[in-house]
Amino acid sequence: MTYQDLSTPLRTILTPGPVEVDPRVLRVMSTPIVGQFDPAFTGIMNEVMDMLRVLFKTKNQWAFPVDGTSRSGIEAMLCSVIKPGDVVLVPVYGRFGNLLIEICERHGATVEVIEQEWGKVFDPEEIIQAMDQVKPDIVALVHAETSTGRMQSLKEVGQACRENDILFIVDAVASVGGVDVRVDEWCIDGLIAGTQKCLSVPSGMAPLTYNDRIEKRITERKRVERGIATEEELKQTNDQFIRSNYFDLSMLQDYWGPRRLNHHTEATSMLYALREGLRLVLDEGLEERFTRHKFHEEALVLGLEAMGLELFGDASVKLPTVTCIRVPDGLDADTVRGMLLDLFGIEIASSFGPLHGKIWRIGTMGYSCRRENILAVLSALEGVLLHHGASIHKGKALEAAINYYVKANE
Ligand SMILES: *Cc1c(COP(=O)(O)O)cnc(C)c1O
Repeated sequence: MTYQDLSTPLRTILTPGPVEVDPRVLRVMSTPIVGQFDPAFTGIMNEVMDMLRVLFKTKNQWAFPVDGTSRSGIEAMLCSVIKPGDVVLVPVYGRFGNLLIEICERHGATVEVIEQEWGKVFDPEEIIQAMDQVKPDIVALVHAETSTGRMQSLKEVGQACRENDILFIVDAVASVGGVDVRVDEWCIDGLIAGTQKCLSVPSGMAPLTYNDRIEKRITERKRVERGIATEEELKQTNDQFIRSNYFDLSMLQDYWGPRRLNHHTEATSMLYALREGLRLVLDEGLEERFTRHKFHEEALVLGLEAMGLELFGDASVKLPTVTCIRVPDGLDADTVRGMLLDLFGIEIASSFGPLHGKIWRIGTMGYSCRRENILAVLSALEGVLLHHGASIHKGKALEAAINYYVKANE
């Protein structure tokens, strides 16, 4: 059996991840490997940390990627912070809130959940009231809920956590690099991002940051080295130490920090990719990048509405990087998606659980968030919907979007 050279089709990817990767990022991934303690490489590690601090709007010392997909960063943060028996409050308004619950439970937390209908977010006061009731040690919250395309405001919750000495941990996987995230100003103690969403880097790293409140907790939980501790001390710390080697942030920070203690072998080529991805983000400018995401989102929404399609969810808290469309009655959601892929090479997403088959999700993240992609998906969707006999307004979507773009150029 022989295999052919790897060859993948060229796609227009308009899902909430993985998204299209800037060719410049792909190019640096073929840069030669250097050893992980080579000054040429540790210099790159330091640059990545510097750029992450700017991206996260933080003065935190600790800002580095965990090797693995975004959930590896979530798991590293939660397993390093949660001591068995800690109470964690998780407000859930979509699928990724449920992921937080699952990870917290696996690490021995007592999880308290409040739920909001999918398509809405919480009034911060509701979360603060729940905090008063359950007195959690930690609040874990999703900033941008990819499954429903909604964005939760964080500032009030962060302030309340700080006032009550509660740790505030945020999953910002789908927002970082696409919409504004302010770690220090919003009193976020620990935050996790993703690479394959708005940073437009392949999947495989989870950049995160945490402050000295979290650092204190994880360094207290360091495994006491054998021979140094008494039996009694060992017994005590054994209840408390971080139950993962790979995800132990106290070990990771000794590797990323000046001590450079050996831990894992850093994912060399992925770090090149992340460095280039971050360089491109900062080169574009954070505010300019957020504006670009809003700009193309507006064109997409105008087009979809002109076509006569109905958007899903509370419009006042819409996530700019994910647009959810109600599937018109009588249409099979997956058949339409399949035809978009087969005929046009365009990928859009379905959703999860109660929303599967009910909505489509169009992601406009990072390098995928471009005029030609917006125009392509509007025209392709119109064609496929007309083919399936949907009653939509023919020709209106492109007209609206083209007018929008032409006007913006004037
Ligand atoms: C995509 C996503 C994740 C999970 O990321 P993986 O890279 O698939 O592990 C977690 N949270 C949110 C909000 C996401 O959008």
